[in-house]
Amino acid sequence: MKTYFSLILLLPALLLGSCKGQQKTDGDAAASDTIPLSQVKFNADSAFAHIVKQCEFGPRVPNSEAHRRCGDYIVSAFRRLGLQVTEQKADLKAWDGKTLAMRNIVASYLPEQTERVIICAHWESRPWADADPDSSKHRQPVMAANDGASGVGVMLELARLLPQLNPAVGIDFICFDAEDYGTPYWDAALEPEDGSDWCMGSRYWSRNPHVAGYRARYGILLDMVGGEDARFCFEGISMRYARDVMVRLWDAASRCGHSDLFQSREGGWAQDDHVPMNEVAGIPTIDVIPFVEGEHTFGATWHTVSDTPERISKTTLKGVGQSLIQFLSEEQ
Ligand SMILES: [Zn+2]
Repeated sequence: MKTYFSLILLLPALLLGSCKGQQKTDGDAAASDTIPLSQVKFNADSAFAHIVKQCEFGPRVPNSEAHRRCGDYIVSAFRRLGLQVTEQKADLKAWDGKTLAMRNIVASYLPEQTERVIICAHWESRPWADADPDSSKHRQPVMAANDGASGVGVMLELARLLPQLNPAVGIDFICFDAEDYGTPYWDAALEPEDGSDWCMGSRYWSRNPHVAGYRARYGILLDMVGGEDARFCFEGISMRYARDVMVRLWDAASRCGHSDLFQSREGGWAQDDHVPMNEVAGIPTIDVIPFVEGEHTFGATWHTVSDTPERISKTTLKGVGQSLIQFLSEEQ
C-alpha cells in the first residue's frame, strides 16, 4: 500500500467533509449514553499469537513456500472456528512479468444470511523492504507482522468471538493476496500508471466476487492495525465513499474508550484494497490504516525489515479489536 499523493488536490472538499463528521461525532455524545457497551472482550494475546504464528512461516512473499504454508494455516484456523471457507485462486501477471499464484481466502460466518458485512485485510508480505532506513536492506523481504499479519490476527480473534457477539448480520472475513507487490523505486520505469501493480488480489475479487451477485452493506479494511505508533484518522477515499461507516466506527471506538487511537481528523489518502472494493465492486468500504505525522505516514516499521512481532503493540490490537466488537454489537 502506498500514499495516494495524486489526489492531494481534492483535499479541501474532504476537509469540509471531515469537519461535518467531527460535528456529528460530538453531536452524538449524548445519544451514545443510551447505547450499551458490549460485554464481549477482545483478547489481544490471542490476536498476537496468530501474528507470531504467521511470521514463523517466514515472509509470506507470493509464490514462496512460506506463503503457501501460511495460507493453509489461515484456512484451517478459520475452519476450526466453524466458519465456511472459500478459496479463490488465479494466476495473475505482475508488473515485473512474473506470474503470481494468487490466493484470496474468504471465511464466512452465517453464510446463509443475506444481510452481510465484510471485514478484510491483506495477508501476504511485501518482497522488498524498500523504505528501510538502511538501503542495503531494500531488496530483503518484509516480515509483515504489522503490514499483513496484524489484520488477519484481529480477524481470527473476532471470528472466535462471533458466537458470543451474535451479530445481526452475516460476516465475511476476506484475506486478500498480492496487495503489496507494487513496483519498488529502482524499477520505477516499469510502474503501471493506473496503480494496478498494487492490490492485485482485491482487484481480482472486486471483478470476480467469491459468490455470483455478491452484495454487502459495507466493508471494513484493516491494514497495519498493530503498530506501536498507530493513530487512525479519516482516510480520504473512505470518507468519499463510506463516510457514514467511518463515523459510526469512530463513535463506537470513542464509546469504549479508544478515542486516543481513533482520532476524528483528516487522515491522508491511501492506495489500498478499499479502492477497488469501492470503485469496482461498489461496496462502500473504509480503510482503518495508521496516519502518523512526519516522515513515515504509516508508522516507523512500514516497508522495513523491522516490521516484526517484537514491534507489535497489544494495546493497539486491543483498541482496534474492542472497537470493532462494539461497532458490530450496534449493527441492527
Ligand atoms: Zn504495505
